Amino acid sequence: MTTSPARVSAVRPSSGGRPRVVIIGSGFGGLFAARRLRRADVDITLIGKTSHHLFQPLLYQVATGILSEGEIAPATREVLRRQENVRVVLGEVVDIDLTARTVTSTVLGRTTVHPYDELIVAAGAGQSYFGNDRFAEFAPGMKSIDDALELRGRIFGAFELAELAEDQAEIDRLLTFVVVGAGPTGVEMAGQIAELAHRTLRRDFRRIDPTTARVILLDAAPAVLPSFGEKLGERARRQLNQSGVEVQLGAMVTDVDANGIEIKDADGQVRRINAATKIWAAGVQASPLARILGEQSGAEVDRAGRIAVQPDLTLPGHPEVHVVGDMMALNRLPGVAQVAIQGARYSADQIQRRLAGKAPLGPFEYHDKGSMATISRFHAVVDLGKLKFEGFIAWVMWLALHLFYIVGFKSRVTTVLHWLVSFLGRGRSQRVATQQQVFGRLALENVGPQFEASKTGGLKTAPHDEDLTGRESA
Ligand SMILES: Cc1cc2nc3c(=O)[nH]c(=O)nc-3n(C[C@H](O)[C@H](O)[C@H](O)COP(=O)(O)OP(=O)(O)OC[C@H]3O[C@@H](n4cnc5c(N)ncnc54)[C@H](O)[C@@H]3O)c2cc1C
Repeated sequence: MTTSPARVSAVRPSSGGRPRVVIIGSGFGGLFAARRLRRADVDITLIGKTSHHLFQPLLYQVATGILSEGEIAPATREVLRRQENVRVVLGEVVDIDLTARTVTSTVLGRTTVHPYDELIVAAGAGQSYFGNDRFAEFAPGMKSIDDALELRGRIFGAFELAELAEDQAEIDRLLTFVVVGAGPTGVEMAGQIAELAHRTLRRDFRRIDPTTARVILLDAAPAVLPSFGEKLGERARRQLNQSGVEVQLGAMVTDVDANGIEIKDADGQVRRINAATKIWAAGVQASPLARILGEQSGAEVDRAGRIAVQPDLTLPGHPEVHVVGDMMALNRLPGVAQVAIQGARYSADQIQRRLAGKAPLGPFEYHDKGSMATISRFHAVVDLGKLKFEGFIAWVMWLALHLFYIVGFKSRVTTVLHWLVSFLGRGRSQRVATQQQVFGRLALENVGPQFEASKTGGLKTAPHDEDLTGRESA
């Protein structure tokens, strides 16, 4: 364990007495940090730009009508209602001043400045279109409840419009679904759309045959689920094919518009797929707050917008500023929930040690608990390092783990019911799709800048909104 006298200094108490801990974000990092500090003698302010905590790994089930949004997005205020040292505040953080030790948030034109003694930044990441943000209008990503509901409206709406269409080419366009990105999110999304078309909707229409729908999963990379290794990736690809998903690899997206998508294949050929519904599951871009922190602390910001942190997850020269989860870069750790959860707990523990005047912990060590992805009903892949599982056993493991992490007893009970409806039966409990879901984002843009919803999940009023990846496409 390394100890540095500079780090042992106790937290400065606020003028009112208790040290003020400000946490930015109500995702995995923010929520788990707040909970870890439940017995600490501090005043915590948790600022989130949404009023809910979001369990992102199940967003695709909201988009495909399996779960309701409430099941994966409980109100943060409700989750923390018994923790009296936390105040939950709605607002988008637009500035952080490391010298003045303040965080500025705004909501609907109301600006609030929050002083802090310790700061935990867990603002996550948004979608990256690799420099082509205009694609977002035609190919929504999957980062928020808004995204999932918009996609639900687009997916179910495409079948409805196909039932009305007279022209076969138009029916084909409406019944073609393209998912860009063959990582876990893309694989899960494509698998579920295929099940929707082949099982759930097969008897629901009179003029069209939903089972003829094309579901295409494409990626510029040569493999499906590359992070799971060659063997599991290949098995996943085969299982997707069996479920009716066309997998196209080495396919780079060069353009997206309302009617379809343009692709350049590995051999240089350019082709077009006419498709009404396009879904972007290809890249992430860290919160623009990382750039703000980088400019003030001198810490490097990488091409994906993540800020390089010290081995103890703090910023250079700022032991009071902790950055956790998807927006930090350390030892090439992946952007997964466990990195955020473990980082949040570690930072909360560091704060408590500083408060107690104890020596700091050693550097942050991530314990990899493995990764998993579902492909279709009864079929998943699980990678636990040396142990790899595939098929039904993996699917049961996937169910159990996700159920464990869903927040709240009520949500767990209804989730199990909805899973029974979808996986044992053919149904989907959440098929409501409204115009508001599909067109709400565009409509908000017309109401005024303070209502404008970010298409990529970045700051609405981002002071630094240019793309940082420099990559051309997926
Ligand atoms: C579709 C999808 C599926 C995934 N599946 C898996 C999976 O199966 N397994 C896995 O381990 N990981 C999965 N992940 C990744 C995992 O969800 C993330 O790694 C994890 O959420 C990161 O936690 P975080 O706290 O850093 O960010 P988040 O959980 O994204 O939380 C960020 C929080 O900050 C808030 N915020 C952002 N900007 C601001 C601002 N300016 N002001 C105030 N608040 C702000 C957001 O509203 C949010 O509450 C998935 C991600 C996605 C998108």
